[in-house]
Amino acid sequence: MTSVIEPTPSGERLCRRTGRILDSLQRSDKNRDVHTTSATEQLLRGVGLRVTRPRVAVLDAVYAHPHADTDSIIGAVRIDIGEVSHQAVYDVLRALTTAGLVRRIEPAGSLARYESRVADNHHHVVCRACGSIADVDCAVGDTPCLTASDDHGYSIDEAEVIYWGRCPDCSAEEVS
Ligand SMILES: [Zn+2]
Ligand SMILES: [Zn+2]
Repeated sequence: MTSVIEPTPSGERLCRRTGRILDSLQRSDKNRDVHTTSATEQLLRGVGLRVTRPRVAVLDAVYAHPHADTDSIIGAVRIDIGEVSHQAVYDVLRALTTAGLVRRIEPAGSLARYESRVADNHHHVVCRACGSIADVDCAVGDTPCLTASDDHGYSIDEAEVIYWGRCPDCSAEEVS
């Protein structure tokens, strides 16, 4: 990565580029379970963000805990690097989201959650009872979801679908 890319919240090109790095990261995850710190640093540099310990720790935490809320991320970061303020973690999450390394989702009535799976425009299923969240792959591929029947002239970079229902655990509880 020789050029510094300006972080843009909606850059398609940035997403594709980040996606490629993420792809290789996730491929290596399958073998090793955790991605290396140098891969995290590479991601940060790839979007022109300076590498700092809190940024590395927050990004690692988001990778390790998909759909975690801010408090869970703060907990994980503190285990990793010791005391760090709420505000510092909020600031890092905002920077990572703006840079396109992290996706923020906020189902109605839920706290904001963060995930590292950013480049594929996948959807989510949320349990009304316990709030658990799972990924749902786009039913017809990633591009068609972004093709609105009428875009009203807007430049669209994300489509969000949330399926609401009850998770298996909560469904089972109801029956018993
Ligand atoms: Zn549930
Ligand atoms: Zn997700």
